[in-house]
Amino acid sequence: MAHTFDSSVYLERLAHVRTAMADQDVDALIVSVGHDLPYLTGYQAMPLERLTALVVPADGDATLLVPGLEAARVVEQPGVFTLLSWAETEDPTAIVARLAQGAKRVAVGDQMWARFLVELFPQLPGAQYTRATDVVGGLRVVKDAAEVDALAAAGAAVDRIAGELQRGEIPLVGRTEADVSAHLGQRIIEEGHDVVNFAIVASGPNAASPHHHASDRVIGPDEIVLCDFGGTMAGYCSDTTRCVFTGDIDLAAPDIAEAYAVLHAAQQSAVEAATIGTPCEDIDRAARSVIADAGYGEYFIHRTGHGIGMEEHEDPYIVEGNDTPLAPGHAFSVEPGIYVAGKWGMRLEDIVVATDAGPRRLNTSDHALACI
Ligand code: ZN
Ligand code: ZN
Ligand code: ZN
Repeated sequence: MAHTFDSSVYLERLAHVRTAMADQDVDALIVSVGHDLPYLTGYQAMPLERLTALVVPADGDATLLVPGLEAARVVEQPGVFTLLSWAETEDPTAIVARLAQGAKRVAVGDQMWARFLVELFPQLPGAQYTRATDVVGGLRVVKDAAEVDALAAAGAAVDRIAGELQRGEIPLVGRTEADVSAHLGQRIIEEGHDVVNFAIVASGPNAASPHHHASDRVIGPDEIVLCDFGGTMAGYCSDTTRCVFTGDIDLAAPDIAEAYAVLHAAQQSAVEAATIGTPCEDIDRAARSVIADAGYGEYFIHRTGHGIGMEEHEDPYIVEGNDTPLAPGHAFSVEPGIYVAGKWGMRLEDIVVATDAGPRRLNTSDHALACI
């Protein structure tokens, strides 16, 4: 999807990329399909057999090379790159090689098709290769103000849908999970997203499977319904999970109410732990210890969260073993869960951005278990 910021945003990103290239002795950066290209130019290549490539030589201007028939889709960014289109009878890798001429160390986009790299090898004799992630990844993991705004807008959009679920405005009982999932997907688009990435609806015992696919199961009374949904809006992803209970929980399922109180406290504790400098794994521990202390430890069967940005899942991962300290601009989910196989499951998920002023939640719909 096209999503463009002001040219100044891309100029700043490119300047940072050049610094990273200099630090790592990279003479040329070549990125193609994947998310590094839109991150640096605002342009997302179609995943086609015709090569699209941004070539950034360390000592020259950046060039965006596109197939001629795609050129009309490019939004030009003055000062960021020069647009160059190649004709059907030309060899695009020869053009890339010319733009990167003399490069001894080349960083190549992780998702560029292998065929183009193989074709490039003999045309850049003596060059060594490294992953573009090594150059761009460290920048992409830290969201700038424009990106945080985009994530916040996407988060606010899914929060409006969560509110409808919690107020009982989206009927559940008597409908299949698949029907409700389609309804959520439609609302995700209506709320301004370009793409639906997922709309998990898991009811009753199905909620014990964290990545359950919405099925033909008909949602009944007195059960928990877990809804985990998100999409991509102006290039940035949303992702939130809320659970609702179809009845009076204190009468029907005090055990679920008790577990939910633990989950809520665990999620709150992990969000509060997300301060600058805290290792990612400590956020995971903050959630896990609350759940373990309450006796549900064996039922929390996944990591606490994942980074989010142009991709639904990216660095930094909130997991034991990741000692990366949080920095301002890190954006990630905090989504502990409790899953009792064959009975019920629950998860509570917000996207959080680390800031100097403390953790900022981008999802603020009610954290309580709504009974409808
Ligand atoms: Zn989710
Ligand atoms: Zn998530
Ligand atoms: Zn809360």
